[in-house]
Amino acid sequence: MAPEGATPEAERPLAMTAFKIGVVGAAGRMGQMLVREVAATEGCLVAGGTERAGSPALGRDVGEAAGLAPLGVAIGDDADALFRTADAVLDFTAPAASLAHAKLAAKHRKIHVVGTTGIDRAAEAAIAESAKSATIVLAPNMSLGVNLALLLVEQMAGALGPDWDIEILEMHHKHKVDAPSGTALRLGEIAAAAMGTSLERAGVFTREGTTGPRKPGTVGFATLRGGDVVGEHSVIYAGDGERIELTHRATSRQNFAGGALRAARFVASRRAAGVSGMFDMSDVLGLN
Ligand code: NAD
Repeated sequence: MAPEGATPEAERPLAMTAFKIGVVGAAGRMGQMLVREVAATEGCLVAGGTERAGSPALGRDVGEAAGLAPLGVAIGDDADALFRTADAVLDFTAPAASLAHAKLAAKHRKIHVVGTTGIDRAAEAAIAESAKSATIVLAPNMSLGVNLALLLVEQMAGALGPDWDIEILEMHHKHKVDAPSGTALRLGEIAAAAMGTSLERAGVFTREGTTGPRKPGTVGFATLRGGDVVGEHSVIYAGDGERIELTHRATSRQNFAGGALRAARFVASRRAAGVSGMFDMSDVLGLN
């Protein structure tokens, strides 16, 4: 029991106690990077990690699975327990898993940082519902560079006007399961909105055979997959006689992990100030 007059742990400022961070999907490509990022960050502690039922990583030490020295915590499959004990949970898993995790974040009123892509509108609405009790950051891309590119796309599409055609090209590693990438879709949504339309109306996701000429006011996508490409996105503005290309290349997953941790710490400070709900990376990075 805490001594009389001591501040309960939940109310202590972050600086006085380690920030306990859980990683769901801890054996995944991003999960391992997140474990390494949390373990390397002063003031933060890896509170635990989970994996899907049946994963060969279950029972392994969460540090060892991430290529570190043992951290003394085994990867389990009890996400409920992880949300109960951690201050914040980082989640780069799969859409159905992230939806279930958001409900646990709501149940335990915790911070949940979701980087999973391929989350559809209905699932996004359900996550927003969970954010009435939890504090959630949802962003298909957690890098500073991509979030700056999102801002530039909005400005460029608005400034260039309807005579410029917008096409989005993305490439990722061969293991990626959703297409186009969440970032490409977000770039397209922003471009479409700046053109006064929506991606549902303007998006062209495949072209094959006799397609006829390009329809004005559309946003075209091309998706490449192969090798170990971390993530590349180009937004191409094609005018008559000139072209502008805005390209972002991620060369390491470390930016995404660093962004996720920054997001967790940002919303922790907002919660301390009494603000909760749903945030995106433009809030975290102060780009709004
Ligand atoms: P991955 O397949 O390597 O890792 C996903 C991990 O989640 C796997 O280990 C899988 O077993 C685990 N998992 C699945 N269901 C689970 C559950 N119910 N409970 C616990 N663990 C579960 O994939 P990845 O390359 O690490 O990417 C993961 C997700 O993150 C994808 O949606 C990807 O597009 C996205 N991503 C987002 C960003 C960003 O900045 N937001 C950056 C990179 C990747």
